[in-house]
Amino acid sequence: MSTYDDQSAVTILGLGPMGRALAGAFLDAGVRTTVWNRTPGRDRDLVARGAIGASTAAEAVAASPLTVVCVVNYDASDAILRQDDVTAALKSRTVVNLTADTPDRARDTAAWAAEHGISYLDGAIMTPTPSIGTPEAVFILSGPKDLHDRHRPVLSVLGGTHTHLGEDIGRAAAYDIALLDIFWTAMAGYAHALAVARAEGVTARELAPFAQGIGAILPPLFAEFAGDADDGSYSGELNPIASAASSMAHIVHASESHGIDASLMRVVEGLARRVIAEGHGTDGFVRVTDLLTRHAH
Ligand code: NDP
Repeated sequence: MSTYDDQSAVTILGLGPMGRALAGAFLDAGVRTTVWNRTPGRDRDLVARGAIGASTAAEAVAASPLTVVCVVNYDASDAILRQDDVTAALKSRTVVNLTADTPDRARDTAAWAAEHGISYLDGAIMTPTPSIGTPEAVFILSGPKDLHDRHRPVLSVLGGTHTHLGEDIGRAAAYDIALLDIFWTAMAGYAHALAVARAEGVTARELAPFAQGIGAILPPLFAEFAGDADDGSYSGELNPIASAASSMAHIVHASESHGIDASLMRVVEGLARRVIAEGHGTDGFVRVTDLLTRHAH
């Protein structure tokens, strides 16, 4: 039996791993949940658990005051939302787009929504699918605060923390991009490290406890260096970039001696060398942020 009235009903467009996790959490909480996916058949388990399977996206969005979109990117969400019948059915309803893409795409979608009388919030999910419905889930949202407040009760059944980052609709995507920048460059470093270690006869399992130790160094550094970056102080007293560049060169040499592509670390070393060439060799590594910002256009 539903524990929520129809005013709290939710439609989910997109039933990839994340869309299915979101729909499952709404169902577990007793929210009336309508689902739709481009490729039919992905709703089978959800329908067995009580979801309403819509045969078209227009039918799906007409079933609820709130539609949550979670597809691969904004080309996909545009392809769904900007069909005439879907746009018409969304009029006076709310869309929360939890699809990941760029801040510009979020702003463009908000402009489209405003033009068609659709209330719009943009968001991103910063944790993997198993976190959904648990305290570990992390949702970030941006857009009109009153809209966020209105839908917060039903969205909160997805678990975890829901942070409204501000009225600028692009803000959630901006955080998402910055955070995924950290994640993917770290994962690239990890994958590369495993290749170098393997070439030296060290297995990933053997390295794992030490890899975890290196990873654990990072969170406090993010807090410590935030002030440096915002204030432009870039103190390198304990680890100047000139010394860091030397350690990067060792990684390049060791990799290439095994025929392993070191272009990733060459880029990092190149940035450090440019900072040193500008006369900032005693600064900390985060001086690179200043270099990148000054050369942006
Ligand atoms: P995907 O990113 O692979 O997205 C799959 C969904 O996109 C499916 O519903 C698929 O439909 C749909 N889709 C793709 N192209 C189109 C199109 N042209 N028109 C209509 N629908 C389309 O899987 P996820 O569910 O994992 O991710 C969804 C979003 O959630 C992404 O933006 C992702 O970055 C984000 N996210 C995912 C996390 C995860 O752990 N999985 C973690 C945090 C965020 P079809 O079945 O028909 O192909």
